Amino acid sequence: MKALRRFTVRAHLPGPLAALEPLSVNLRWSWDKPTQDLFEAIDPQMWARVGGDPVAMLGQVTPARLEELAGDESFVSRLHTLAADLDDYLTRPLWYQELSEDATGAATEPPKGIAYFSMEFGVAEVLPNYSGGLGILAGDHLKSASDLGLPLIAVGLLYRSGYFRQSLSADGWQHESYPALDPQGLPLRLLIGRQGEPVLIQLAMPGGALLYAQVWIAQVGRIPLLLLDSDIPENEHELRTVTDRLYGGDQEHRIKQEILAGIGGVRAIRAFTDLEGLPAPEVFHMNEGHAGFLGAERIRELIEAGLDFDTALAVVRASTVFTTHTPVAAGIDRFPAEMVERYFGPDGPSVGGSRLLPGVPLDRILAFGAEDDPTKFNMAHMGLRLAQRANGVSLLHGRVSREMFNELWPGFDPDEVPIGSITNGVHAPTWAAPQWLELGRELLGSQDLAPLRETESWSKLQQVDPAHLWWIRSQLRAALIADVRARVRRSWLERGAADAELGWIATAFDPDVLTIGFARRVPTYKRLTLMLRDPERLKKLLLDEERPIQLIVAGKSHPADEGGKALIQQIVRFADREDVRHRIVFLPDYDMSMARKLYHGCDVWLNNPLRPLEACGTSGMKSALNGGLNLSIRDGWWDEWFDGENGWEIPTADGLADEGRRDDLEAAALYDLLERAVVPKFYDRDESGVPTRWVEMVRHTLQALGPKVLASRMVRDYTQKYYLPAATALRAVIEPGGDSDSQFAVPFGSARELAEYRRRVELAWPRVEVTDVDSYGLPDVPLLGSELTLTAQVALAGLRPDEVVVQAVLGRVDGGDLLMDPASVPMNHTGTADSGNEIFTATTPLPFAGSVGYTVRVLPHHRLLAGDNELGLVALA
Ligand SMILES: *Cc1c(COP(=O)(O)O)cnc(C)c1O
Repeated sequence: MKALRRFTVRAHLPGPLAALEPLSVNLRWSWDKPTQDLFEAIDPQMWARVGGDPVAMLGQVTPARLEELAGDESFVSRLHTLAADLDDYLTRPLWYQELSEDATGAATEPPKGIAYFSMEFGVAEVLPNYSGGLGILAGDHLKSASDLGLPLIAVGLLYRSGYFRQSLSADGWQHESYPALDPQGLPLRLLIGRQGEPVLIQLAMPGGALLYAQVWIAQVGRIPLLLLDSDIPENEHELRTVTDRLYGGDQEHRIKQEILAGIGGVRAIRAFTDLEGLPAPEVFHMNEGHAGFLGAERIRELIEAGLDFDTALAVVRASTVFTTHTPVAAGIDRFPAEMVERYFGPDGPSVGGSRLLPGVPLDRILAFGAEDDPTKFNMAHMGLRLAQRANGVSLLHGRVSREMFNELWPGFDPDEVPIGSITNGVHAPTWAAPQWLELGRELLGSQDLAPLRETESWSKLQQVDPAHLWWIRSQLRAALIADVRARVRRSWLERGAADAELGWIATAFDPDVLTIGFARRVPTYKRLTLMLRDPERLKKLLLDEERPIQLIVAGKSHPADEGGKALIQQIVRFADREDVRHRIVFLPDYDMSMARKLYHGCDVWLNNPLRPLEACGTSGMKSALNGGLNLSIRDGWWDEWFDGENGWEIPTADGLADEGRRDDLEAAALYDLLERAVVPKFYDRDESGVPTRWVEMVRHTLQALGPKVLASRMVRDYTQKYYLPAATALRAVIEPGGDSDSQFAVPFGSARELAEYRRRVELAWPRVEVTDVDSYGLPDVPLLGSELTLTAQVALAGLRPDEVVVQAVLGRVDGGDLLMDPASVPMNHTGTADSGNEIFTATTPLPFAGSVGYTVRVLPHHRLLAGDNELGLVALA
């Protein structure tokens, strides 16, 4: 008989062991080796069985063993040391606190609170609330925010089945299963109200039902992660399933999830900060557009507090940051507009307003998600329209995003689209092997790894003997091979093989052979099977008698993606062949714990996406932190930080329209690199067996990439370039505006002033026009540096001259008169023409030789805009 439900009953902790409780529920243990070692010491076999999960461990350990440990002085003293260390970690001033002290005035004071929204969070394998890179990135963001002391609160959903577990059928087809999570067995606590009852978030659904959600809190070091959960008896049956699984179900299911995450997320934060006495967040950061409805909810709150819609929007925009992760138009989340109408519209003629967001007009919500196709609601467009600041996740992805979203800033060249970039990073204590962290502590002479943020710290690696670096790499490779063999055996047994057939596994893979890893989700653009393009050539590499390679492949395909599953099957079929199966394998059920072993042990990390479809990619960064060398297409982060000596670039055949040919060329380049560069370097040894040239590349990789790939660098960048300016912008708009006797001299007056300005500008703009441009001063034969004077007459349609900027724009011109890399020169207001048009003038030296062109343009200008391009309005001569 199968149990309908399972839950965990825990033994009582004896007094001297009480501190095990806080150590087990704060997920900081997941990146703190000493705490993991302590739990392991309770019962090493059980620790392995429960997959290194402290809460599960305390659920299973016998009262007798606990009594025994309570009397073990050395265990108890270790426990107390670690409990004190956690306490210290949670309370001592960190980077962010010093940032506050440095601040000289209110204008630069960092935000008192930051809310971070994501549909997935990959914090630790015990909380499988992620599917891939986006979630892992969010998890690393939280951990680094904790290490740096940011006052961040994270929000998402608790999926009762998380993402699926993957297994393989005998013929290599992916199978999915969805083991149910038991929140009681997870490091979670419920948000409890003042009367001792669980807090319930409520949202009105179409048709009159209410969607309720309780709020679980996972503690990630200093950072509370709020996870909404709809699987409670208060809900109608169908609504209980809203948080059943990640990326399952249809669009109707998905929009409910996103409404719950966005709107419910804000409501959960309000309840949480109120109960805990914390300041309300000043900055709201959306990790992708999924939670975008949070902006509409904040507008509702502000309308309820007495603001009009446009003023509320100005406040929300000032304080919202949007990060886009998708360089593929097809990857953007879109809903039928009709569906959005159903959720946000009035419930019927008698009700009048939106029940879900009372006071917020439906047409304004629909306008946030508007795009080319009037039947669609675009979540990325909503993100961009609700956030004054937006970014992509690598330099290249920033560029791609500016082009992709150019339509929202028509009239501007892609370069001027206000989307910046912050390159992703990874959390070193989570992803670097303990051996490297130990070496780091030795070299730094301190337990604290914070100095790793400084480039100079990494130069200390120069002192380390090559043989020692090689010894660490070899140890990690050997540990990986042992793990791979165990996984290969389990996988074959699951696929129906008998033990007696599996004798070969004991000697499959080799701890001394060059080991290449390829593990990631399996969307088409990542090209899982590129390595199979020429199977004979691959086979020769795998089976070379003197200098073979071995390949470890893993990855999950989205359950609905049959194409992805077929790619997995191709790899599995190849790897099943008797002649190569000891040198190439596809390991099922890629997750954080498998990934970590791969990053630790692989010598080379292979990545061959279709450029530029990989927004950033982070797995190669984790490999680099372990001295792995990247062998990658120049896409995402690798385009930015490949320096010729920290790995290899696979040349791309970008512009080729014929995808088959492109694959052929890029695969051939990959084999070439392996044969000519990678393999020889790995096997070229000195008299003591150390591949010195390889080790120097490892050392250089660590030194060059170590400080850059850190999530602490990323979170510091977000803080300084996005969170601080957003908080400053928020404080500016909530201040009274105008003169002391103006209508804006009230709280939120500046936001009103900005909203009023925006309304007027948008209304006037179609009539703003550059009517005449004249040039003076150039000699007959203009020379580089000759002075050019331009005057322009501009019809301002009722706007004041100081409410716009007029610019002369100069650049080289191509044959079609297009200005290339233009530079703009501000023009001064110098008078009014008889026609009533305003006159603007500038004098500038000619900046280039060759074909030079110029034009004049007008942009809106207001002190509270993040830039003159923000509103997407421009009038060109
Ligand atoms: C890092 C990581 C990813 C993301 O890797 P990409 O290089 O972005 O594809 C996905 N899954 C797991 C488990 C990871 O650790």
